[in-house]
Amino acid sequence: MPTFVHTEKCDGCKGGEVTACMYICPNNLMKLDTERMKAYNQEPDQCWECQCCVKACPQQAIEVRAYQDVVPMGGACIPLRTDQAIMWTIKFRDGAVKRFKFPVRTTAVGSIDPYGGKPEAGDPNDQLLFTEAGKTLPTIS
Ligand code: SF4
Ligand code: SF4
Repeated sequence: MPTFVHTEKCDGCKGGEVTACMYICPNNLMKLDTERMKAYNQEPDQCWECQCCVKACPQQAIEVRAYQDVVPMGGACIPLRTDQAIMWTIKFRDGAVKRFKFPVRTTAVGSIDPYGGKPEAGDPNDQLLFTEAGKTLPTIS
């Protein structure tokens, strides 16, 4: 089920050229209505509910319309993410609210070197994977 925007919460990321939800969506679905300064999901059918925009929105304005067996009508799961943790606010249909906070990392922000210890990129036509540098392909007889 796709995302939708609580327009009363969305502030259009305060007029930024690319909003947080536009920047983060891997499917390029979020769009800003520049007249109203409100974001919306321009192609709900293509949304795969990855929750990236939901977690990135600084106003907690985006929600995934969850399946009824996960979040029954009237309930909601709303995340609030910081550099260190994510807190999920679960609203039940009877009005009860529970919050769960989880750490999201064990290392300092910016300390990870994703290519550390990996070989330099080689021949782009090489059939081997990045981590298989120096090996030889098996021959088919
Ligand atoms: S849930 Fe994922 S795919 Fe759907 S609009 Fe948000 S970022 Fe894009
Ligand atoms: S990230 Fe949130 S506040 Fe910013 S434009 Fe998108 S929905 Fe609105």
